[in-house]
Amino acid sequence: MMKGNLLISSMIERAERFFPKKEVISRTSSGIHRFTYKDIGKRTRQLASRLKEFGIERGDRVGTLAWNHHRHLELYFAVPSIGSVLHTINIRLSPEHIIYIINHAEDELIFVDEDVFPLIEAVHDKLKTVKAYVVMTDNELPDTKVNHVYSYEEWIAAGDEAFQYPQDIEETDAAGMCFTSATTGNPKGVVYTHRSTVLHSMGLAFADTVAASESDIVMPVVPMFHVNAWGMPYVATWLGANQVMPGPRFTPEVLAQLIQDEKVTMTAGVPTIWLGLLKELETNDYVTDSLRAVVCGGSAAPLSMIKTFEKKYNVPFLHAYGMTETSPLATVSRLKSYQEDLSEEDRFDIRAKQGLLVPGLDMKVMSGQGEVKWDGEEMGELLLRGPWIADDYFKDERGEETFIDGWLHTGDVCTVDEEGVIKIVDRTKDLIKSGGEWISSVDLENALMAHEAVFEASVVSIPDPEWQERPVACVVTKEGHEDLSKDEILEFLKPQFAKWWLPDDVIFMEEIPKTSVGKFLKRSLRDKVKEHYEL
Ligand code: ADP
Repeated sequence: MMKGNLLISSMIERAERFFPKKEVISRTSSGIHRFTYKDIGKRTRQLASRLKEFGIERGDRVGTLAWNHHRHLELYFAVPSIGSVLHTINIRLSPEHIIYIINHAEDELIFVDEDVFPLIEAVHDKLKTVKAYVVMTDNELPDTKVNHVYSYEEWIAAGDEAFQYPQDIEETDAAGMCFTSATTGNPKGVVYTHRSTVLHSMGLAFADTVAASESDIVMPVVPMFHVNAWGMPYVATWLGANQVMPGPRFTPEVLAQLIQDEKVTMTAGVPTIWLGLLKELETNDYVTDSLRAVVCGGSAAPLSMIKTFEKKYNVPFLHAYGMTETSPLATVSRLKSYQEDLSEEDRFDIRAKQGLLVPGLDMKVMSGQGEVKWDGEEMGELLLRGPWIADDYFKDERGEETFIDGWLHTGDVCTVDEEGVIKIVDRTKDLIKSGGEWISSVDLENALMAHEAVFEASVVSIPDPEWQERPVACVVTKEGHEDLSKDEILEFLKPQFAKWWLPDDVIFMEEIPKTSVGKFLKRSLRDKVKEHYEL
């Protein structure tokens, strides 16, 4: 058989060649932009030629600080296609972390959105390796004291549209780079290769996983700076699917409108995004019947949310699990064919789990006593390996604690049922240890969010002299339900849990603190709870 080098350039070339009429639709500060893959393909070549002219070499890192839009998509292909490495930087990180990761990655050049440029103005004198900034805007360049600032559109206009991508790149070369958002210490960098990116894209296209297809209109809501928007822009381009990019500072209203206007069939994001969308759908009328999959991952999807999407709005929901280190797709929750006959409740229960390992990957779940039994009860840490799983962090000693004997230790505790379906019980560090037993904060959160008056809920532990730790629930009520009481909540939970699982207290809040990618931020929540009790 031929070797067949798996290169990212072949994905954009395929879209350009076979799907020149299909579209990438972006919401930008000046309205909706529509480009075909013919346009995007040409602009990507122009951009690639300019990168070469600027002196970007094989292996050099090129950073982006940008929302989801067509220009970011062009960078997704132009940068790796010349053999350099696309480093997508999370624009919501603290300035200290942004300085750290740009210096650690040794970025040579940074592409930045106009509205994110103030961030560069605040930190540029601390960036050691950056030679220039290219601003992505429909307007004039910002008036600034920062040196070496160029216009993206001027770069493109001066680029060579007949540029040919180099063919001497190896599939095992670095192509992309993303840092995990740090809960302690500095963020850790993960480097993706051409091969891992192409194989991960195949993983997204299996009918039994996410089933991405040419006929889809894909809207990645998950940011392009968060694990490559879960690989959606790569697979969608490769297959020639239309894409809808929600652009800067979108709201649930913007998302609902785009779904309706552009007839989005598949979208992907974290649960807090979908809670926001549901609130919008409950307030105003939209047509959402084009949707065939709302892909949800990043934290556990509450069962009640899945039911509301499917039963009230007739929108199919797809729960998936992964992490920055796994590109990210690792498991997807779908029923096996013979499970279709189960009762509705049983089917929902299965689909609310994190699901089955994606073909191509390998897993084991280890407790202190070895591999756990597949009984849906015994808990252990999930270990993963495969061609799109990282094997180290970028120049970081902490890799030694995570990548051991060829396995990624995910830090997630799960059970496995008789069918091989995993259920994430908690992150190791979020499990609540009460009297020598474990309480899953995720299970309690799921149950709380099923209460009709609860908008968001998160559970953390407080120290306890007798039990070591005890759970406390933090609850945000829906509008108009501010009179919800602690007793009502505890009564609601009682029939669902053993007595010792019930939270010792309920604290009502205006909002649960969130991470830079919209997950509940337990570290800040614990601080808030400590403040509340003056601990
Ligand atoms: P961060 O550590 O910055 O949140 P990631 O996006 O890589 O970065 O997060 C990965 C983690 O998110 C996983 O290790 C797991 O704890 C959690 N996670 C991802 N998907 C799910 C899911 N479907 N259910 C529960 N937890 C999830």
